[in-house]
Parts: sequence; C-alpha cells; structure tokens
Amino acid sequence: MNNDFILVLNCGSSSLKFSLINPANGSTLLSGLAERLLSEHAIINIKYNGDKQQYAVSTPFDHQTAISCLVAQLNQLNLTDCITAIGHRVVHGGETYCQPTLINDDVKAAIKNLARLAPLHNPANLTGIIAAEAAFPALKQVAIFDTAFHQTMPEKAYIYGIPYALYKQHGIRRYGFHGTSHYFVAQQAANVIDKPLAQCSFISAHLGNGCSIAAIKDGKSVDTSLGMTPLEGVMMGTRSGDIDPGIIFHLINQLNYSVQDVDNMLNKESGLLGVSGISNDCRTVEAAYIEGHDPQAALALDVFCYRIAKAIAGFTASLTTLDGIIFTGGIGENSDVVREKVICQLGLLNFNIDTDANLAMRFGKSGLITAECSRSVWVIATNEEWVIAEQTAQLLNQEA
Ligand code: ADP
Repeated sequence: MNNDFILVLNCGSSSLKFSLINPANGSTLLSGLAERLLSEHAIINIKYNGDKQQYAVSTPFDHQTAISCLVAQLNQLNLTDCITAIGHRVVHGGETYCQPTLINDDVKAAIKNLARLAPLHNPANLTGIIAAEAAFPALKQVAIFDTAFHQTMPEKAYIYGIPYALYKQHGIRRYGFHGTSHYFVAQQAANVIDKPLAQCSFISAHLGNGCSIAAIKDGKSVDTSLGMTPLEGVMMGTRSGDIDPGIIFHLINQLNYSVQDVDNMLNKESGLLGVSGISNDCRTVEAAYIEGHDPQAALALDVFCYRIAKAIAGFTASLTTLDGIIFTGGIGENSDVVREKVICQLGLLNFNIDTDANLAMRFGKSGLITAECSRSVWVIATNEEWVIAEQTAQLLNQEA
C-alpha cells in the first residue's frame, strides 16, 4: 500500500464525515459518515472497496467515539500506515486565515475564539481536531477554512451598511462560506474551457441544504451571497436567506416572539420547508410540484429559483466578463427543474437552456447544459474533500 493518503475529516455539530483520499487524483479508498451523534439513534456508515458497512453504536456516541470507531476500522483494514496527514474542514477562519494552515496550539485557540462567529460549527470542528490529535499523535494536521477563498473580496463587497465601528471592533462583515466548493468547481470549469483559472470569471451556485452564489473574477472570489453567518442570501432548505430586518422587530415587538424563537424560525423553519409546508428536501418539494396538486410546493420552488436568478443577475455587477455559470451541490448537480427555472429567468442575459442536456446532467455527471447560441452554464459535481486532501498535501510538501 502506498503511503500517500490524506484522512479528511469534516466535523458537523452532530455528524462526522470522513474519507481517505489520494491527493494526486482524488480517488477515495475509504469514506463514511457518523450521524445523529449524541442521540440514541447515532449510527456510523463506512464504505471501503465498494462495500458498505453500517454499525449501530452504543450511546452516548460522540465525535471522539466516532473517531475511535474509525481508527479501529482503519487498523483492522491495515490502512493506518498509508495515512500521511489529516486535513480538517474548518468553517470559520475569520480574517486571519486565508490559506491552508498547519494546526498548532495557537491555531486551535484561534478556531475556538472564532466560535463567536460560527457557534454551531467551529466548536465541532475543534472537537474533531482534538480527537484526531489523540488518535494520530504522530501525524500533522491541517485546517482548510470554508471562508478562506472569499478573503479576496473587496471592502465594498464585505462591508455592511451599518456603523463601521461594528466591523472594526467586533468583526461584523461578510465572510462567505462554501469557499472550498466554489474554488473547486471554478478550477474544473477553467479546465473545461482550457484557460488558466486566473484568467476566468464565473458565477457559481452551490445549492445544497445550504446555498450560496459566488462571483469569481480572474479566479478570485469578489463577492458571495452568504454573509457573516450562513443565513444571508438566497433561500435555502430551512434557512430564510435575506429578509427585511424590520420583520425581526415586528416578530419580537408585535407577535411576542423571543429571540430564540426568531432564531429557530429563520434557521430551522423557513426556506423550502417554511414556504412549501411539506419539506426542506428539494426532491420532496419537486415531486409535489411535478404532481401538480400542491400550489405551496410550486410557490416554494418559484421563490427558491427566482431568488437564485436574481442573485446571479446581481453578481454580474461584480464582473467585467463572464465565462459562464456553474451549478453544483446536491440540488445544483441533480435538479433539472431548479436549473431550468433559474436559467429561464436569465434570458435577458442571453442564457438559453438545452433541455435534453439539462435532463441528462445528474448523479455526478458534469457538463454543459446550454444551447449553442447561449452563454455557457455547466453542471459540475463538487468535491470539497479532494481540495482538502490536495491542499493538505501541498502545504506539507512546502514545509518539508
Ligand atoms: P449539504 O449542503 O448538506 O452537503 P447536499 O449538497 O447533499 O447537502 O444537498 C442536499 C439537497 O440536494 C437536498 O435538498 C436534496 O433534496 C437535494 N437533492 C439531492 N438529489 C436530488 C435530486 N435528484 N433532485 C433534486 N434535488 C436533489
């Protein structure tokens, strides 16, 4: 076995995604997901060599035990020796981290400190780092920040129209997320048109449970729809995206919502779920829309797609040329309905869909979905894990 794999860890608040990746070509030796951690329904799925194994686990099952379970499995499969380093997805790097970063005590302290900006994510990321250090004390650990790619945004894109002191004293500004994904699909699209990424301009739409649009100019992020937190921008599965901030005062002052109620409503009860009333899952909403008897499902999809199109059109203001639009994420990669609705909304900008190509592009397929007379739109399957593995390996090679 070659000694050249990176273990990529992505710790969510109640989940742990992991994969063992060859950084040179992105091939995955082993991957898996531990879900519903800290609940009595915790479960861990591991896929190796095409075989899927599911383990029911005894509770309490937390990130630490999930990593111990993974280590036991790696030992049993004799895979431990082929891991050269560990790459961690870390959600918030603030303004400090715009590059892959070797983890040490200072970096851990900074990740902890940045939890004030990402209270659900950074503590979980740190838990994963500490558990991985305990499990693999001899291996170097690298943090790849989700905000890093967007650190090239100009001030005019990241400053909010509120007192400037709030930015200077408390870091209140747009940071953006999904940076690793936007970077990956932009690089892939640059390969497709055979131009260096540094000469390309794209608008990429990462549409999953969370959704964000990014304007990429000369290969760099110049604006994005997610903000200081992952609540701003387009509508998402359960998150509202942009609303009039005055609604919050109305809810609290007139309708007796508590701050926690507003938080829950905007983060967990809104978006596709809130408008459709049936689900946050795009497949369910889409199926109800296609059946044709659910006007609210149809409305939810209309709002969802219209707002994506509006954001894309808005981001043309950030660019001087446009090589094309990229769709990615679970919805972007699979939903021909969403893509068609968005592109039809953009006819004025000379986008015309190729219906057959659009229908064919799903389940990991990547390609062009627009007609010959149109500006280009591609579907590109994202692969954040590969970027994390690649950047981890690159950093360690530089350090060696
Ligand atoms: P996350 O943001 O958690 O990584 P994903 O990128 O996996 O999420 O995206 C999840 C979303 O993708 C869900 O709304 C799901 O319904 C949607 N999705 C997955 N497959 C399809 C499909 N075939 N058609 C429409 N939507 C899909």
